[in-house]
Amino acid sequence: MTSLENIKRRAENNAKKHGYFLNPDPDFLQNLIVGLKENEDRYGFASCPCRLGSGNFEWDRDIICPCDYRDPDVEEFGQCFCALYVSKDVVEGKRPMQPIPERRPQEKVDRAIGKAPEKTVKSEAVSETSDTNRKLFYCKVCGYVTFREEPPHKCPICQAKQEMFGEIVLGTDIQVR
Ligand code: SF4
Repeated sequence: MTSLENIKRRAENNAKKHGYFLNPDPDFLQNLIVGLKENEDRYGFASCPCRLGSGNFEWDRDIICPCDYRDPDVEEFGQCFCALYVSKDVVEGKRPMQPIPERRPQEKVDRAIGKAPEKTVKSEAVSETSDTNRKLFYCKVCGYVTFREEPPHKCPICQAKQEMFGEIVLGTDIQVR
């Protein structure tokens, strides 16, 4: 099992790498780190500590910390949804921390909490094994390739924006678009 120290170090390293900071309130920060550890122990992956996950890796892939929504949220609001990652302005007190809107699409939230119509849940559960909802996307800047429902908000390798992702269509001839 990953220790709290390791999870915190991982978050610190990630923040440093991307020019962010961790929440400056030690108690608040510790609670989030504990939440990440609980999720990692429970599910095998560290899903977001302030969102309800399904425990299904494919369904929760977008909210594995740091989630797909962190970068646009820090850019727009100076903090991620949980306020684990914050901007320099927030740390320096030039920007207040406050609740921010949920950027995660509602259908994914509903699916995680079992609110989606049974038919949808069933068909998605089938697609989990048949991969029908997932596509191959590639980053036009660095070539990173990912297989998922939609391209990430930012490339995890070179930080290129979502618009820079193209789809790879597999057929007799592989096409990129
Ligand atoms: S909102 Fe923050 S804490 Fe939650 S998964 Fe995203 S980056 Fe991690």
